[in-house]
Amino acid sequence: MSSFRTLDQADVSGKRVLLRVDLNLPMENGRISDATRIERIVPTIAELARKGARIVLLAHFGRPKNGPDEANSLKPIAAALGEHVGRNVAFAADCIGSVAEDAVAKLREGEILLLENTRFHKGEEKNDPAFVASLAKLGDLYVNDAFSAAHRAHASTEGLAHVLPAYAGRGMQAELDALTAALETPKRPVAAVVGGAKVSTKLELLGNLSKKVDYIIIGGGMANTFLAAQGKQVGKSLCEKDLLDTARSIIAQAKAGNCEIVLPVDAVAAKDFKAHAENRVVDVDHVADDEMILDLGPASVKGVEGILHKCKTLVWNGPFGAFEMQPFDAGTNAVAKFAADLTASGALVTVAGGGDTVSALNQSGAADRFTYISTAGGAFLEWLEGKVLPGVEALRQK
Ligand code: AMP
Repeated sequence: MSSFRTLDQADVSGKRVLLRVDLNLPMENGRISDATRIERIVPTIAELARKGARIVLLAHFGRPKNGPDEANSLKPIAAALGEHVGRNVAFAADCIGSVAEDAVAKLREGEILLLENTRFHKGEEKNDPAFVASLAKLGDLYVNDAFSAAHRAHASTEGLAHVLPAYAGRGMQAELDALTAALETPKRPVAAVVGGAKVSTKLELLGNLSKKVDYIIIGGGMANTFLAAQGKQVGKSLCEKDLLDTARSIIAQAKAGNCEIVLPVDAVAAKDFKAHAENRVVDVDHVADDEMILDLGPASVKGVEGILHKCKTLVWNGPFGAFEMQPFDAGTNAVAKFAADLTASGALVTVAGGGDTVSALNQSGAADRFTYISTAGGAFLEWLEGKVLPGVEALRQK
């Protein structure tokens, strides 16, 4: 049995279900540029509708500062959501008070209502009990399907779970199952790929992972800081010179916990930071003063593949190189494909997410074959950092 309360334990028929979802969608010129977050909530909405619930959707959008404003309204999203769910989605122009109460009262079994941006009220982010009570009036039970907002103790992400019977939606459940399989009860050995730009943004993550995994494979700009900490010359590469001692202590701490830190042995280096810049493969002892490391070299890719071959679980956050610019996406692409093949053959569980990782892996064409790709951003990173996520804790079985 899952350690969280799920829809399997909820009797939703005829009930008003307050369903917290993530509709904070990326938009370009007023249009949804990526509907992944909608696709992830469709199974929960469809299941609740099938079971005859009256579905009341709660979500935030953007960072409104002073109450309602059109730019942060959820209204345009109701129609798009309806298309994905294949049912009409009604909209109410406020998430509490008589506007919301009247709209909820009209709902019949299986019908769906989206309420306006919860962040139009200050009580949302303050987790104000009076605001929580106003929301709670609208539902008989609460389902949270927004893992990506679960690192925040807001009224709609945490407060409601304490005043109504509370359950994880199917998307939340899938995320929790994947993250538990990756870090809490993984099949060993476990490797973590930690890439991206800077060590400074990943100190807590490295500290936590070094206690939990067997290998930390460091890539991206942050690998340069580790290489420099070992006395290598990294030329013009992105490197945090003030963190060399920190990098050395991370290596020592990992070693003490029997976690091996794996660094690149070669690199693809260029003199210019731009796509298709002239480049060469160079071992990490011979980077020239006017060069910068922009990707993992082929010998390092082989080394990483050798480690993945020995492992049963992989957690991945951050690209191996400046993947937005060809050909410096090659290292990330090669390792991603290798990991995806191992996953497809049943040899490796692969869980990835956070920041640019999703776009890097999507670009590699291998993402579909990973066991799980988290689109949760900050919440995924906080989980990797070992932090308690209030919205998740509130759903735990007591
Ligand atoms: P992060 O958001 O910390 O995961 O970092 C992702 C960013 O790191 C991407 O924009 C990459 O282009 C960048 N990056 C990765 N490797 C390098 C590198 N060797 N030099 C400069 N930037 C890099």
